[in-house]
Amino acid sequence: PSRPTPSRFPSAVDALRTVYGFESFRGDQEAIVEQVIAGGDAVVLMPTGGGKSVCYQIPALVREGTGLVVSPLIALMHDQVDALRANGVRAAYLNSTQSPEERGAVERAYVAGELDLLYVAPERLNGEQTLRMLERGALSVIAIDEAHCVSQWGHDFRPDYLALGSLADRFPGVPRVALTATATRETHREITERLRLPDAKHFVASFDRPNIRYRIEPKTDARKQLLQFIRSQPEGSAGIVYALSRKSVEQVASFLAQQGIDAIPYHAGLDARVRAAHQSRFLRDDGVVVVATIAFGMGIDKPDVRFVAHVDLPKSVEGYYQETGRAGRDGEPSVAWMAYGLGDVVQQRRMIQQGDGGRAIQQRQSQHLDAMLALCETVSCRRQNLLGYFGQESGPCGNCDTCLEPPEVWDGQIAAQKLLSTVVRLKRERNQSFGAGHLIDILRGASSERMRKFQHDQLSTFGIGQDLSEQDWRSVIRQLLAQGLLAAEGEYGTLALSAASTGVLRGETPVPLRKDVIGRVARVPQRKA
Ligand code: ADP
Ligand code: ZN
Repeated sequence: PSRPTPSRFPSAVDALRTVYGFESFRGDQEAIVEQVIAGGDAVVLMPTGGGKSVCYQIPALVREGTGLVVSPLIALMHDQVDALRANGVRAAYLNSTQSPEERGAVERAYVAGELDLLYVAPERLNGEQTLRMLERGALSVIAIDEAHCVSQWGHDFRPDYLALGSLADRFPGVPRVALTATATRETHREITERLRLPDAKHFVASFDRPNIRYRIEPKTDARKQLLQFIRSQPEGSAGIVYALSRKSVEQVASFLAQQGIDAIPYHAGLDARVRAAHQSRFLRDDGVVVVATIAFGMGIDKPDVRFVAHVDLPKSVEGYYQETGRAGRDGEPSVAWMAYGLGDVVQQRRMIQQGDGGRAIQQRQSQHLDAMLALCETVSCRRQNLLGYFGQESGPCGNCDTCLEPPEVWDGQIAAQKLLSTVVRLKRERNQSFGAGHLIDILRGASSERMRKFQHDQLSTFGIGQDLSEQDWRSVIRQLLAQGLLAAEGEYGTLALSAASTGVLRGETPVPLRKDVIGRVARVPQRKA
C-alpha cells in the first residue's frame, strides 16, 4: 500500500559529508554504521560527546525506509528534529505535546514514505495504536537511545523501556541499535538481554575523558569553596554548578552573582520563558555559570564548558559521570570539581531509609551511594576508580587530585574506637543517641551547658579526643560512614553502630583514613595556543 522512503545517499561517507559536513568518521562510528546498514543489530556504549547520533542517523539515510528513534527526552526531540531539518533531513517526532492534528500529519507523512527519521517517546510504543501505525509504513532501522533506562538496577530505570524488547518480533528484519553513554557491565548485559539483541555486535568505546581533571574536596563551607574554585579558573570560563534542590540552586546562584560571577539559576520551578532565556544565554555568551538541578544539561551541546562543579553529592557514579561529562566536549582541558561532606552522607543515607520504595530499591540505592562514596574517599586515582566502575581497567591517570597531590593516609583505628565506644556507652548506659556535633563535643570535652545538662561530662570518654580538631573529627565520622563502619539513623541522622563496627572496636578491622586537604584548587593547565 505504501512506498518506503527511498534511500537518500548511495554511501555512508556521502551522507556524512553532505548532511553533517564532517570529513571522516570518528572512533567506532564507521564500523557501527556498516554493521547497521548491512542489516545487523548493534549495542553501542560511547561516552557523551562521542558521536552517537551519526551511528543511527546515517543508516537511516542510506537504507530504504524511515529510521525510528526511541528517545525518553521529550524536551529535546524538538531541538534535534529542528537541527536535522536545517541540514536537509526530513525528520519529525510524535509525542504528547502535539495536537491530534499535528500527530495525524506526521503519521501520514511516515506512511507515505516521506520521512527519513521519526522520533518517538518510549511510552508511545507501549500501546498497539502506534505499533499498528508503524506497520503501515516501512522502517529502515530502530534506534533505542539512552538504552540504560531498561536496567532496573541502573540509576535511571524507565518501565516503558521493558516493552521495547518486543520490537524484535514486531519488526523482524529491521536492524536495531541500542545506544548509551553510561553502562556498567551489568547494565550492558541487561540491555542485550531485555532489548533482545543476542546477535548484536558490541561496540564499547573507552569511557575515559582524559581532558577532564577530577577534583573532590571535603566540604567546609561549600559556597566559599565554590567561589574560590571558580575564581581559580581562567577568566571567562563557562561552567555548570549542580545542586540537589531548587532552593539551594537559587541561593548559590544569587551568592555567586553577588560576588561578581555571571551566574544564573536553572531549575524546573522557573517559568518556561525564564528557563529558555537562561539556557540560551549560557549557550550564546562567554563565561556564563549556570547553577542548576540535574535536569539541566541533558542534550545541551555546548562544547566549551570548562568546568562542572557539584556542591551536593550525586546519588550515583553513573549520575556523576554523566554530569561531569558535560565538561570539555571540545577536548580542551576542563575540571570536574566537587565539595562533599559529612552532611551529604547523613542526608543521603536518611533519604534512602525514609524512601518508600521497599527493601530491594533501598538496597539498590545504598549500593549506588556506596560506590559514589568510595570514589569520594579513595586514596588512589579517581579516574581509575571511575573507569573501573564501568568495567574498564586503567592505570593512575596523572590528571586528578589524588594523582597530582597524593593524599596522606593515617591510621584511624584508635580515633574510630574512641568514637564508637562513646556511641556504645551512650546507648548502653543512657539509652541515648546523638548526631555528629554532640559526639564531637563529648570527645573534645566541650565545656557547654548542653554537656552539663545531659551530664555527658561524666562519661568516661568525655575529653578523650582532644588530640583531634573538630574538623578532623568530622572527617573521621564522614569516612567511617562512607566505609560503613558507622551508621546514621532516623530523621536526625543520629549515629549508631553498624554490623561492621564490632571489628573496629575489637581492633580487628584496620581503619586507614585520608587526611583531608581543603582548598587546593590548582589551575587548569594552560591551553595550547
Ligand atoms: P553523543 O550523542 O554521543 O553525545 P553527538 O552525536 O551529539 O554525541 O556528537 C557529539 C559532537 O561531536 C557533536 O558536536 C557532533 O557534531 C560531533 N561529531 C560527531 N561525529 C563527528 C565526526 N565524525 N567528525 C566530527 N565531528 C563529529
Ligand atoms: Zn588520577
